[in-house]
Amino acid sequence: MRMRKKKHGEQRLAACGHIVCHKPETPFTCSSEAFGRDGELHLEIGCGKGDFACLTASKYPEINFFALEKISDVVVAAAEKAVACENTRPDNLRFAVGDASKIEEWFAENSVDTLYLNFSDPWPKSKHYKRRLTYRKFLESYFRIIKDGGKLKFKTDNRPLFDFTLEELDFLGIRRDIVIYDLHNSEYNSENIQTEYERNFSAKGFPINMLVITVHKSDDKSAD
Ligand code: SAH
Repeated sequence: MRMRKKKHGEQRLAACGHIVCHKPETPFTCSSEAFGRDGELHLEIGCGKGDFACLTASKYPEINFFALEKISDVVVAAAEKAVACENTRPDNLRFAVGDASKIEEWFAENSVDTLYLNFSDPWPKSKHYKRRLTYRKFLESYFRIIKDGGKLKFKTDNRPLFDFTLEELDFLGIRRDIVIYDLHNSEYNSENIQTEYERNFSAKGFPINMLVITVHKSDDKSAD
């Protein structure tokens, strides 16, 4: 995501301190450690400006939604937006500045109920395939932090990235529950919550691909 450098970014992030988390000394083992209340832990990696995080946390007040994003100024934008609607802002939402490659420093094994990747950067050049957030090394770390029976949900308009992801899952021997190439014209659309990128790309006529996996630890060859 491109964004002009924000003035006073550090101070502005600090002003949203009540909804912005710092990396714990030891990884969170459950959502109550990060939220101070029980609830399923839903994690979005690469949340951008946080629309999906806000909408999902509002729609499902019983869950705890943790939104991680690597660019600090983007987290400032997301957190300020959330704070601006303080009256309606759900108390089950936290943002954090962090990188997917360090996700196991944030969350312990078997701690996450649902992990979302929405419109991850496609890294189209083949020499950059290891940077894609669905490269096998990333997937393996997601599967470690997701609980047995938990879910991974991935959406993208980018068909090459989607196909790459399916190949990586094949490599890891992971079965998928849902593979949809046109989410908005599917039976799953009624419960879909659109992200910012999703609105933009679908308005331009791109079909949206969606993939859902239930993690079965005993089937996970990568855990051998
Ligand atoms: N999910 C949002 C934004 C998609 S753009 C939406 O659908 O609207 C992809 C986002 O992922 C960008 O904000 C980018 O900064 C973030 N990102 C890219 N690589 C990341 C990484 N390694 N760790 C965390 N966030 C990352």
